[in-house]
Amino acid sequence: MIENVVTRRCVICGHDGVMTVDPPRRTLARGTDPSDSSYSVTVVLPDMELCGDHYHDFRSKELVIGWCDDEKCRHFGVVGAPSPCGKEYLALKR
Ligand SMILES: [Zn+2]
Ligand SMILES: [Zn+2]
Repeated sequence: MIENVVTRRCVICGHDGVMTVDPPRRTLARGTDPSDSSYSVTVVLPDMELCGDHYHDFRSKELVIGWCDDEKCRHFGVVGAPSPCGKEYLALKR
C-alpha cells in the first residue's frame, strides 16, 4: 500500500480539500507555434480538489472554475478572476 502524504488543497482558497472532482474537461489543446495552426499539444488537466464550501458552490453552479494555461500558473481558479500571471482564468468548455 502506498500512502499519499500530499495534503490536497482546495484549488480556490487553499484550505484542506475534501472533494476531488473532474475538471469540466480533461484535456486542453495548446498550439506551441502560433504560425503553425496544425501543430498542437494536448495538455491533460489535473483533478480539481475543493473544500466543502467551494464544492457546494461548484455543484450549485455558483462557482465556475477556469484554468490559466500560462507557464507561470497552470492551475485552476475562479473564471474571470485574475491569476498570478495577470491573465484571467478562462472557462473550460466541455
Ligand atoms: Zn475552498
Ligand atoms: Zn495565469
